[in-house]
Amino acid sequence: MSDQKRNFIGGAWVAGDTAANINPSDLTDIVGHYARADAAQAQDAIAAAKAAFPAWSRSGLMERHAILRRASDEIQARKEELGQLLSREEGKTLAEGIGETVRAAQIFDFFAGEALRLTGETVASVRPGVGVEVTREAVGVVGIITPWNFPIAIPAWKLAPALCYGNTVVFKPADLVPGSAWALVDILQRAGLPDGVLNLVMGRGSVVGQAIAESRDVDALTFTGSVSTGATLAMESAKLMRKSQMEMGGKNPFVVLADADLDVAVDCVTQGAFYSTGQRCTASSRIIVEDAIHDQFVAALSERISALTVGDALDAETQIGPVVDETQLAQNEEYIRIGEAEGARLVIGGERLARPTEGFFQRPALFADCTNDMRIAREEIFGPVATVIRVADYDAALDVANDTDFGLSAGIATTSLKHATDFKRNAEAGMVMVNLPTAGVDFHVPFGGRKASSFGPREQGRYAAEFYTTVKTAYTSA
Ligand code: ADP
Repeated sequence: MSDQKRNFIGGAWVAGDTAANINPSDLTDIVGHYARADAAQAQDAIAAAKAAFPAWSRSGLMERHAILRRASDEIQARKEELGQLLSREEGKTLAEGIGETVRAAQIFDFFAGEALRLTGETVASVRPGVGVEVTREAVGVVGIITPWNFPIAIPAWKLAPALCYGNTVVFKPADLVPGSAWALVDILQRAGLPDGVLNLVMGRGSVVGQAIAESRDVDALTFTGSVSTGATLAMESAKLMRKSQMEMGGKNPFVVLADADLDVAVDCVTQGAFYSTGQRCTASSRIIVEDAIHDQFVAALSERISALTVGDALDAETQIGPVVDETQLAQNEEYIRIGEAEGARLVIGGERLARPTEGFFQRPALFADCTNDMRIAREEIFGPVATVIRVADYDAALDVANDTDFGLSAGIATTSLKHATDFKRNAEAGMVMVNLPTAGVDFHVPFGGRKASSFGPREQGRYAAEFYTTVKTAYTSA
């Protein structure tokens, strides 16, 4: 197909089987036609990255800085167009799409700076006359596998540090959202990356992802996606004694105490549970509410939900865009049935909504009278579905918050310094929010979780160096 957006391997655009990229707000709208790589093309990409590594890992810091800087500037300058592409292929609102695009620009800006700030340590040896230097070096070929829910920000927060520290890359974006990934790679190659440093292989996880995961020539593997795939890839990596970093699911608690500012609590939950159509690993899905404020809170939240505008991602009035595809929407509906069968009370939402165009529209759903052992309170749904669990007091709230297989983000709404402080200390999560939604994080500080949510070093900010570099200790006798 002549207008096919191709894969990028060893500095050349390479054609493949074609897949249509469909707009979930309007199924008649084809965003574009994108190549799907096969396993042999994935091997070619890995070989190209391997061949490019020696020169790139020794490249000048100003070269890396300038490329990342130029990429940041172009993303920022094209934020409306790229944000629109993102919203069109993924379904988050245009404001969210542009916001995510700006975040990608900020991440490249941050790592453009980090390229110039790489430091090591000089340490006195325990042996007289000997000097010790501790330095960081690039790891090698990094495999990057990304999900559909943040089509530009997640690729950015993996690509930017990988390139900054001198690694070469084989990048496989999610099959549902190749558009943003393709645009990002196009920007980076025009920004001046030498051939082979960055390779794009779009396509299926079971074909392209698998080929990357199985390759001995991939020295580090970073993945964001489901727990089951993450666990498989971590084991695959362990077999090869390869560095790996897995960002997976969440079942994030948000505690509402009786002393909370009700408006703040309702705002936090509306944003945390339902914005981006609830399709975030940091989404608040277990709302743990102190008895004394429970009924008032549920009534206020239900009213807010009923006022949310669900519709085409590109309409200016839309607050909640469509679900990403039919599979995800069917899964959300299945969990609505499971919740009702388990005895939870569906307060509002869950139904499919008709709109002028055919798309995957669903009213955000709120369940009350849930217990923490219900499947809807234990399994990640990854849609606009939240559960409310009533508790007697703060201590019970903390226990419920921590009683989960996951540990990504945890939030609390309270005006009590004592409870806020205790929650920050004792919530078993990688990220804790006080009077802020569980989702929505800064781009320059560590991102990641505990338990089944994350495996391996943190992402983002300076902590990213843990994964994208390897430490060398050099001794000199002179
Ligand atoms: P999601 O529910 O977000 O689609 P997945 O874990 O299925 O979660 O997908 C996340 C990413 O992992 C996607 O890019 C997908 O293509 C890729 N992927 C899926 N299965 C595999 C696999 N077996 N090996 C490697 N990558 C895979």
